[in-house]
Amino acid sequence: MNKNIDERQQAVRDEVKAFAEKHIYPNSEELDRMPEPRKFPRELYGELGKAGFIGYCMPKELGGQGKSHLEYITLVEELCYHDPAIGLLCAVGELATHPILHFGNDEQKKKWVPKCASGEIVPAFVLTEPEAGSDAANQKTEAVETDDGYVINGEKIFIMHGDAADLGVVFCKVKDQPKLSAILVETDQSGWEGRTLKNKMGMRAATTGGVIMKDVKAPKDALLGEIGKGFRYAMTTLDSARIGVSAQGVGIAQRALDEAIAYSKKRVAFGQPIAKLQAIQWMIADMATQVAATRHMCYHAAKMQDAGERFSLEASMAKLHGSETARFCVDRAMQIHAGYGYIGEFSQIEKLYRDQRVLEIYEGTSEVQRLVIAGNVIGR
Ligand SMILES: Cc1cc2nc3c(=O)[nH]c(=O)nc-3n(C[C@H](O)[C@H](O)[C@H](O)COP(=O)(O)OP(=O)(O)OC[C@H]3O[C@@H](n4cnc5c(N)ncnc54)[C@H](O)[C@@H]3O)c2cc1C
Repeated sequence: MNKNIDERQQAVRDEVKAFAEKHIYPNSEELDRMPEPRKFPRELYGELGKAGFIGYCMPKELGGQGKSHLEYITLVEELCYHDPAIGLLCAVGELATHPILHFGNDEQKKKWVPKCASGEIVPAFVLTEPEAGSDAANQKTEAVETDDGYVINGEKIFIMHGDAADLGVVFCKVKDQPKLSAILVETDQSGWEGRTLKNKMGMRAATTGGVIMKDVKAPKDALLGEIGKGFRYAMTTLDSARIGVSAQGVGIAQRALDEAIAYSKKRVAFGQPIAKLQAIQWMIADMATQVAATRHMCYHAAKMQDAGERFSLEASMAKLHGSETARFCVDRAMQIHAGYGYIGEFSQIEKLYRDQRVLEIYEGTSEVQRLVIAGNVIGR
């Protein structure tokens, strides 16, 4: 089946396959099974940067590859096909750089984007707080303006790469301002404390952190865009990132489908390969149909983004469908593999099962996507 809707996508798939053979497969299992406390895989992150993957759709003049969003989400899909957690490493680099690229001034872009694109530094998107997840505007972290800049205090949770980040795009309220702002914070200072959260279910190569900020300092020119516009910057960034989560879902679901087809052809029961059983064929037919549908939704949203159209609704639909399709397909693949799926020693299915689950949680839960979709189609 031809997956591509644009001829440039095949080159992306081939590029990722070559990268996967060299850098993903030799590291994948060790990064997934590494004992606690997990360590952020800086070397592999650097390789993703060197390959140009983190800056794939960033402008060439800022150290990126200048590719389209369609090519970028094909990249994420393919990385996640080979290892979802390593695909996520790359996607988080892009997500955290996005607000700087789109809302930063020229100085901020020149200072930070090339370093983020090359993987030289690790950025983090620092929004969620212990009591402000879906209700992201309800932030407690506060920045006080001083003569030199800002002094920030607060706590953040579930921050991808928050344990290893060199730079945090921190969303907070500036004192006496009702709405969120965004401030670029260099983490190499004593008040920034990032720790690796333990016992994460999946996506283990890409670590997740908790961050405590005690009198963290940022200069005046670290304010991103305008005071009070931070919530809009965060939501616009998430709109774009949701197409990336959808692509993660496409990659995971396709992998589950391919594994299920291959296994069903070699596993014999009652004297024949289980692929000959109609019960198995129907599961595979349903999986293939869902993968095709979700891939189209994902590519459609990316094409709208490339065309400069509003894509918030399509991104939410693609994220919702992509993450539910990943869950459905991995679950069916596990049923087809049965015992050989449940026990991780025998196949990738157990890892895929753990890795896919977060797609319905981060960058807006499935319930939040339904709110966005309903708001768009019914009206508020
Ligand atoms: C592995 C991982 C990585 C993450 N990475 C980052 C990151 O890099 N940066 C960052 O800032 N955040 C990150 N997050 C945070 C993530 O975005 C939040 O977990 C998510 O937004 C949900 O917030 P919550 O966990 O506090 O759940 P809550 O908001 O407390 O939600 C609990 C339940 O209530 C539902 N709910 C809440 N409000 C509504 C509503 N109005 N209508 C219907 N249902 C509702 C939710 O859907 C959910 O089922 C990450 C999370 C995880 C698990």
